[in-house]
Amino acid sequence: MNSTVRLAVQKSGRLSEGSMKLISSCGIHVSNGKGKLKAMASNFPIEFLFLRDDDIPGYVADGVADLGIVGENVVAEKDKDVKAIKKLGFSRCRLSIAIEKSKPYKGIQDLEGKNIATSYPKILGDYLSKNGVKADIHEISGSVEIAPSIGLAEAVCDIVSSGSTLFTNGLKEVETIYRSEAVMIANHNLDAEKEEIINKLLFRIEALQSAQNNKYILLNAPEQSLDKIISLLPGMRSPTVLPLAEKGWVSVHSVINENDFWEKIEGLREAGAEGILVVPIEKMIL
Ligand code: ATP
Ligand code: ZN
Repeated sequence: MNSTVRLAVQKSGRLSEGSMKLISSCGIHVSNGKGKLKAMASNFPIEFLFLRDDDIPGYVADGVADLGIVGENVVAEKDKDVKAIKKLGFSRCRLSIAIEKSKPYKGIQDLEGKNIATSYPKILGDYLSKNGVKADIHEISGSVEIAPSIGLAEAVCDIVSSGSTLFTNGLKEVETIYRSEAVMIANHNLDAEKEEIINKLLFRIEALQSAQNNKYILLNAPEQSLDKIISLLPGMRSPTVLPLAEKGWVSVHSVINENDFWEKIEGLREAGAEGILVVPIEKMIL
């Protein structure tokens, strides 16, 4: 196979570290020398393009890049013809509307006729019209949070992670309008060879994601509680059971899900399990 897939990632910013960490966890080596626009992976048919995040959906839609890693917020805002193929779980943030702390706020209708500064006119416009509110959207490209204090707008709509930037600018968050995380996007018209490379990459990403959601568990149990313990631990196929040197005792190994982790542990202890060890899994292929 001679084909290479071009993957656009953010050159520097809040997506860069997560994007490159994901790639390296997939066992793909790339040296992105500072200031370079392109780099080729040494052990996987991928070429990286390092771009501003705002340009990524457009380049993927036009086919300059086959794939991109970008925030869902930017995909929704740019509204280009790309398909989102995998949520990636990093760079989580929300897009919120904020007004001056001292102003009263009863509900979204209070924004009627107001002037709102944002870098996200499309997402904001869609949200307001869905809620039947007419407001003036003032598009600015940066430092949105200072707009009210300089008299440019009465409200802002911006990315929030902790809310401290809003607070130091005398603002309070009143509506969350969009939740975002990093997502892998793809061009709609890829040939079979490129699809095959992308499927290999997705297979590796899915192995990492399953591993992150699961833990490997080892415990000791008296043989007579084994049935109860096995019923609590389905495992990937079924748990591994090994005899201990001490007669009447066994060691049980299995995989448990992060979501019901503490409930499972409590149940196992009640059933007589001892010496429970829980260890992270690096990769998991189902
Ligand atoms: P560029 O120079 O590439 O245009 P930028 O300044 O527009 O970068 P960043 O601030 O690096 O963008 O944010 C990139 C993306 O990271 C955002 O579109 C959003 O999806 C996500 N993001 C933004 N702020 C945060 C945050 N505080 N925490 C987590 N993720 C964030
Ligand atoms: Zn940007």
